[in-house]
Amino acid sequence: MTTTVEQAVSALEQRYPSELASDWDAVGLVCGDPAATVQHVLFAVDPVLSVVDEALAVGADMIVAHHPLFLHGVHSVAPTTPKGRVVHTLISHGIALYCAHTNADHARPGVSDALAEACGLSATTAIDPAGEQVGTGRVGDLLEATTVGELGDRLASVLPATEHGIRIAGDVDSPVRRVAVCGGAGDSLLESLDPAVDVYVTGDLRHHRAQDYLLATGKALIDVPHWAAEWLWLPQAAASLDEDMGAGTLTTSVSTIDTSPWSAHIGRTS
Ligand SMILES: [Zn+2]
Repeated sequence: MTTTVEQAVSALEQRYPSELASDWDAVGLVCGDPAATVQHVLFAVDPVLSVVDEALAVGADMIVAHHPLFLHGVHSVAPTTPKGRVVHTLISHGIALYCAHTNADHARPGVSDALAEACGLSATTAIDPAGEQVGTGRVGDLLEATTVGELGDRLASVLPATEHGIRIAGDVDSPVRRVAVCGGAGDSLLESLDPAVDVYVTGDLRHHRAQDYLLATGKALIDVPHWAAEWLWLPQAAASLDEDMGAGTLTTSVSTIDTSPWSAHIGRTS
């Protein structure tokens, strides 16, 4: 039995409806003939050339990426530009590209559910609900209380290794029961957090926003690498597509390339 790009897209749209995406976002099929056959889907965070090369190396004929290739209008896809090169390489090798960004953030299960699971949370609600069962971020209680430092250690053991590493703001020994998470960049949700939250786990936390939150609440923050936190969604999404298409219908795999912009960490311990 063969699967087409159109069938794979239809299954992905069921899981991550494009209506759930933010207004400013650009999600869905970027390139690929809907009638083309798909045998192998590679899941990745970033649709960059190294991931396209990885797709070629593993024999994938479709890429599902979390981040959009194009977020703003373009006048050219000339192969002399990085994104134009991606488009040319994809089309010339018959590889389809589908992007599920904020629709995958807001869906359940979605990007923040994968991060919540990594923290040990089972039942969660959205930090910023956008309707029944969907919304941004997740918040819930751990079955067993821990500390901020131990939760950081737990995340370090399940997140892919990065040069960026995990940073903690606040007291590492403070007790943790209620945890809020947001995959990707989440400091816009700081003001929306339930006051009972003991620690907030997200990425790209900026100095002033983090400092203001700490001073106002006395709580803690765990800053995880944007790429690594979103990478956790890839195995979940690949398993969902496997399940939706039926066992043995197509092959799915997860990118192993760290496409984070941070490539070196020069640390000094005090
Ligand atoms: Zn992201």
